[in-house]
Amino acid sequence: MTHTDVETLFHEFGHALHSITTRAKYGRFAGTHVPGDFVEAPSQMLQNWVWDKKVLDTFAADYRDPSKKIPAELIKKMNDAKLATAGVFYRRQFAFASLDLALHDQHPEDDSYDCVAISNPILERVFLPIDRSTTFVSYFGHLNGYDAGYYGYAWADAIAADMATVFEKARDGYLDKQAGLRLRHEIYEPGDSRDVTVSIEKFLGRKQSVQPFLKKIGIGPQEKKKAPAGPSHEGR
Ligand SMILES: [Zn+2]
Repeated sequence: MTHTDVETLFHEFGHALHSITTRAKYGRFAGTHVPGDFVEAPSQMLQNWVWDKKVLDTFAADYRDPSKKIPAELIKKMNDAKLATAGVFYRRQFAFASLDLALHDQHPEDDSYDCVAISNPILERVFLPIDRSTTFVSYFGHLNGYDAGYYGYAWADAIAADMATVFEKARDGYLDKQAGLRLRHEIYEPGDSRDVTVSIEKFLGRKQSVQPFLKKIGIGPQEKKKAPAGPSHEGR
């Protein structure tokens, strides 16, 4: 399997866990029956697992010689490449989310409604210049069903990055049993039987924050780089 396939598998497994481990009394509030701008967070968070060497080493190996794991250097490079392209990725997401909201905004009844004229300038302003003869919006499948909710993908990413900090700080990282159980009890089990914001904050043990997401995509306040230990490090 490619790394992308494995990431998708973990993502979908997050949705599966959300349903399998539910303790909600009524089906309406069980598992993934949560608000649309939260439903992707538990699954998107699980994607973090496949960018972590410790996790990957538990299963990812050379099929000809399973003792050969993915080298740490390669995983570092993959993470670096993801960070390098995060800007393009989210500009595109924000462009889609913005045009989705604009198209669903109130519109005077007697005014003509030209969805291309509404969406193309937004794509251009938020993402990249486009050929004016193209009509991206006509094949934007997510307009159907996600109506005015496309922003939920990026918002769920922000929640997911926030929730991932619990594992990042845990003793065994993404394999930490205590953190895992807390995720199960506070996020997966209740589903929508209590406000998801309450669940998130119970899991975090603090108020929600968008800072971990900003840091993850390289635009938040970064941790100060350690000063070089001595003159011998100069020029490296
Ligand atoms: Zn999903």
